[in-house]
Amino acid sequence: MEKTLIILKPDCMEKRLAGAVLDRFQKAGFDLVAAKLMHLKPTLLKEHYAHIADRPFFPALATFMGKSPVLVAVLAGENTVARVRELLGPTDSTKAPKGTIRGDYGTDVSVNICHASDSIENAEIEIARFFAPGEVFA
Ligand code: UDP
Ligand code: MG
Repeated sequence: MEKTLIILKPDCMEKRLAGAVLDRFQKAGFDLVAAKLMHLKPTLLKEHYAHIADRPFFPALATFMGKSPVLVAVLAGENTVARVRELLGPTDSTKAPKGTIRGDYGTDVSVNICHASDSIENAEIEIARFFAPGEVFA
């Protein structure tokens, strides 16, 4: 059993697509084992996006991610990290194939509906960043 962290971003929430996106993950066989709404603050965003915090697009990304509440959740299943990223599609929604979550619902390279951890190691770090152990039911 492998876990990953997802964040339904402000564009997903504002378009009322949280149910549609969660449905894709659940229909693919993943269990929802933790979830909460959070309004992400600059300090947490800088930590979460440390790998790109020095890139020119980071201020705009932080403004976007902090503009309204997001749904942070943990999915569990088989080969979860890789398969959830496959369901999402590539970062740039305009290049993501139809049938992927970003390809169907995303706007561009920044406004792209959903975050998902990119490795098992990062999934563990990210889950611990957003959830206390007692909040994860797996
Ligand atoms: N991002 C952006 N501009 C870029 C690349 C990324 O605004 O040129 C944003 C986008 O929202 C992306 C997030 O930064 O989802 C994290 O980037 P990463 O490279 O980790 O992509 P992901 O893992 O989300 O596909
Ligand atoms: Mg990433």
